[in-house]
Amino acid sequence: MDIQQLLSKVETRLFIDGEWREGSEGETYDVLNPATEEVLATMSSGSRDDSIAALDAAHKARASWENTDPRTRAEILRTGYDLVKERKEEFAHLMTLEMGKALGEARGEVDYGADYLLWFSEEANHFFGHTNRYPAKGNRMLTVHKPVGPCLLITPWNFPLSMATRKIAPALAAGNTVIIKPAKLTPLTMQYFVQTMVEAGVPGGVINIVSSRSASDVSEPIMADPRLRKVSFTGSTPVGSTLMGLAADNILRISLELGGNAPAIVFPDADLDLAVEGVKSAKMRNIGEACTAANRILVHEDVAEEFTRKFVAAIEAMKVGNGLDDGVEVGPLVEEKAVAHMQELVDDAVAHGGTVLTGGKRVEGKGFFFEPTVITGASTDAKVFREEIFGPIAPIFTFKDEKEAWEVANDTEFGLASYVFSEDPDMLFRASDALEFGILGFNSGVVSDASIPFGGVKASGLGREGSREGMLEYTEVQFIGTRDPYQRVN
Ligand code: NAD
Repeated sequence: MDIQQLLSKVETRLFIDGEWREGSEGETYDVLNPATEEVLATMSSGSRDDSIAALDAAHKARASWENTDPRTRAEILRTGYDLVKERKEEFAHLMTLEMGKALGEARGEVDYGADYLLWFSEEANHFFGHTNRYPAKGNRMLTVHKPVGPCLLITPWNFPLSMATRKIAPALAAGNTVIIKPAKLTPLTMQYFVQTMVEAGVPGGVINIVSSRSASDVSEPIMADPRLRKVSFTGSTPVGSTLMGLAADNILRISLELGGNAPAIVFPDADLDLAVEGVKSAKMRNIGEACTAANRILVHEDVAEEFTRKFVAAIEAMKVGNGLDDGVEVGPLVEEKAVAHMQELVDDAVAHGGTVLTGGKRVEGKGFFFEPTVITGASTDAKVFREEIFGPIAPIFTFKDEKEAWEVANDTEFGLASYVFSEDPDMLFRASDALEFGILGFNSGVVSDASIPFGGVKASGLGREGSREGMLEYTEVQFIGTRDPYQRVN
């Protein structure tokens, strides 16, 4: 892959009302490669005026897009799917360059992200309301799902393509127009995706992108304007909470996919090799920078020694380096401050009684690398237990019995993903009853798919993405009650 040629294809300007244009205030910001610290691109930065111009465009395009046939929208999304798959290598390289993940994982994300386009292209045609009779009044009822209206979609840096398609595909399939605010650290994948969707046939005004060095310059003016009808945000819990406050003024519909603090619970009857593999992928996928990452590894004391030995060996076998290089599984963290944060978490865990079994420090040299790290023995007051780690640190804690396992697992404000490893089939339902999490992986460390309702409870958010539920988030229900003119006479 010729990297310079690839980068030269990616638009660095804003896309508003079907036109690529510079930010109105002439501001820019740089995008870095976290593996080399080199500048990859200089982006136009959108202003408050640009944000309102994008909302003007989304509002203007609303009626005509709402009135397109579902089949037309489905075919555009399907063409988008085909184009993303054709450009798999380009999208994968862009993600590795700007975010750092290993190329193999980036390729996996292209497949996963593209699946949302395929899924919602199918859903567009199969999305029905229902009709019925009133139970006792002799009248009939209909419910219809209408597009909610212009949507603001705000995405994080950790999954630059799949977090885009998970929002944009259902929003467009349901007949909405969108304004996208990509993460400042990784806008290139989103820019190229918008270019791709325009080629696929999405009309001007229906899709708009305002990248900005100031996120609030985009969100605040748009969210204060009553023409906006929906915000969908994926990112950290504090920012989600701020946006929920802004949404309150206009009673905006809001979906929030926020942080996680997933427990991975290993029971004594688990297949330990499977558990090691499952916990490793749940922990280390995406360099640990995933909302679903196994944050707290809870192992029954009877198998803790054997699990830990095998787990440390598996982690030590992972190759760290530039994600573009062959065999690399663990790339750099996304930015310098994330490296400092990892060191702070390790030092805090040691201060709370933890022992570092492997890793524990920065990799010297260029790039934002941190060693894959395993810690045991820290108390549950340590930050690695309380906070979302978002990096390659795996803390192991032990428990004595099932009751304690559930209590420790639920001892968090978050409720996104959870994992359980056990060979007892009844454990599946006991875990489901006991765990306060939106997602449960049973003997599996990877659960995401376009067909599942993805989302969390408690401080992990509101609403679901993917599946039919993901489309409902972009609709309003209208109910129609009517006198039944066709009363049966016999
Ligand atoms: P972040 O909250 O810092 O940023 C997310 C997005 O919000 C970015 O586009 C950012 O520019 C924007 N933003 C920041 N401040 C804003 C403001 N005041 N107004 C409007 N927009 C603002 O999060 P991040 O660091 O990019 O992503 C990591 C977080 O995302 C983690 O907590 C992770 O768990 C979470 N996440 C959740 C899911 C999920 O599905 N639940 C998926 C991926 C990531």
